[in-house]
Amino acid sequence: MFQRSAGLFALGHISIPLILFILYGSSGNQPIILAIAMVSLAWSLLLCWQAFIRKNLDTMLRRPVRWLFMWVDLVILSLIFTTPSWTQDLQPTWISLFLLFLYAGILGYFISFVFIGASFINLYLFSLAQNTPFLSSDTLLNTLGMITIVLLLGRYAEALHRISHYDWLTGLPNRERFKNKLSDAIEKGKARNKQTAVLFLDLDQFKYVNDTMGHSAGDKLLQTVAGRISAIIPSSAFLARMGGDEFALMLPDITRTEDIETVAQRLIEALQEPLTIEGRDIYITSSIGISLFPQDGGTTDVLMKNADSAMYWAKEQGRNNYQFYTAPSDGMAVERLTMESMLRKALEKEELEVYYQPRVCAKNEHVVAVEALVRWNHPEKGYISPMQFIPLAEDTGLIVPLGEYVLRTACSQMKQWHDAGLPKLRVSVNLSPRQFRQKDLVLVIQQILNETRLAPEHLELEITEGAAMQNTSLSVLVLRILKDLGVKVSIDDFGTGYSSLSYLKKLPIDAVKIDRSFIHGVDSDADDAAIASAIIALSHILGLKVTAEGVETKAQLDYLQSLNCDEVQGFLYGKAMPPSTFVEWIQLRSTVPDLIL
Ligand code: C2E
Ligand code: MG
Ligand code: MG
Repeated sequence: MFQRSAGLFALGHISIPLILFILYGSSGNQPIILAIAMVSLAWSLLLCWQAFIRKNLDTMLRRPVRWLFMWVDLVILSLIFTTPSWTQDLQPTWISLFLLFLYAGILGYFISFVFIGASFINLYLFSLAQNTPFLSSDTLLNTLGMITIVLLLGRYAEALHRISHYDWLTGLPNRERFKNKLSDAIEKGKARNKQTAVLFLDLDQFKYVNDTMGHSAGDKLLQTVAGRISAIIPSSAFLARMGGDEFALMLPDITRTEDIETVAQRLIEALQEPLTIEGRDIYITSSIGISLFPQDGGTTDVLMKNADSAMYWAKEQGRNNYQFYTAPSDGMAVERLTMESMLRKALEKEELEVYYQPRVCAKNEHVVAVEALVRWNHPEKGYISPMQFIPLAEDTGLIVPLGEYVLRTACSQMKQWHDAGLPKLRVSVNLSPRQFRQKDLVLVIQQILNETRLAPEHLELEITEGAAMQNTSLSVLVLRILKDLGVKVSIDDFGTGYSSLSYLKKLPIDAVKIDRSFIHGVDSDADDAAIASAIIALSHILGLKVTAEGVETKAQLDYLQSLNCDEVQGFLYGKAMPPSTFVEWIQLRSTVPDLIL
């Protein structure tokens, strides 16, 4: 129901007092007609007040109270029908047609047929009051006319209702209907003291599928996702598509937060399973934001806004997870904006620096490569961790110029070192998911290699599992071109994302870097040891090299050596250092091999 239709319903009612006022002069029973006209005018004005001033008539017309409205209308009509000595030539049934138009066109079939049924009683009363035959051709024609109106207009109303309340692509209810349902649930929740949860779910890589595989694949993906979600949610849940790749779920009558978590977790897991679209396996993930009535808001708008912001928070937390809404301190949003403009300035002024962390051959402990890691020493705020500003840069798109800057600086630095006679090391540079998706990525890399004249085999790109998995077929293509260029590619933080060893086989990559969370306990924790050993063994079978990240102790190194790990990187050898320190470090190391910084 639209606010506009409710307005029409109210305004349409004014036709009854208007007709009565017009008939007033020619009526044989003027005082009664005037009295009915006044009652009906008061009723119409009440409806208008609800529609235009209180703006809740549309909500009322969706609720059972609409039946009460119908009976009020019928009572007013029956007063007209039974007016003694109704001398008009006009049959009062014609007056009821005005209301029937409104019922059929706005409220649909069902209530309109009940209205017709009740109108029969009025016709009967009329025949009694006026002493005319009930079963006349007039009655028959009237009835047929009413049925035709309802059939024609009712169909139109139902179609309009479908279009305005359902999403044509997935067949799910749309935002409008979700809002209506939520507002009903809030009302019930208030009366019964029950909680309602609102879950906003957004597909993390949908835009990518749409952009690369076309809109028809995107549409199929949305339909498949809608089906998958519908299949696993509880029967009391209400699912809707909010538009684009966003879905909303309402869970009414919640008693335990765990129940919401179970549903959210189930959704995340269900969507992680590959989806087959146009014969291809597509891997997508989802981010879910949750708000709760009454804690996080007492109106539909506030609850939906808060679920939405919790969803963005989930995305910031690395996607593929759910987050409950937490009211932000006012400072948080401001802090983010400040940070964004600070980062923009830092990029313009080239305030960002690139540090280098050694990567060492596990067998003989010779330095074989360095990882370029960006550093931001803000003139006033001091050191700001990349863990803080990289996700922000990724969200805002600043990662593209930032990443290019790091890539150019790292390649040019490595070329300088080569020219200066330092060992011919490789430099590895992190590529964020957004960078990896840039259409001109290969071109930019080629350009930087040409500009800096660094040999491609001395450049390694570190991409995350998530970035590689967003569109495997496209990833394979990009990686193959990079391989043809002679650049090496490794999967960074392996074990924290999809961790599917089977896809490693599909991707033309050179190495994996085991995430430091598994290396931490590799010499003491049986699980970490088993994971590291399995990754190393399987990677070797697939012909991939393995680097262990975050090696901090000799015991960890010994264990990794026993597993035949290829390279190690971590504080055991050194943290990321500015270029000048790195040169001193590597020169000292050639004279003092066990040097640890
Ligand atoms: P990453 O690519 O996995 O980088 C390794 C991180 O582990 C670095 O943190 C490094 O300082 C830290 N690390 C290395 N060895 C050890 C160790 O032994 N123990 C511990 N506890 N930590 C160790 P950092 O520099 O804070 O970077 C964090 C993340 O930020 C990086 O993770 C990478 O994902 C991102 N990042 C850093 N620089 C860039 C960049 O230039 N571009 C992009 N796209 N991302 C970057
Ligand atoms: Mg890395
Ligand atoms: Mg890493």
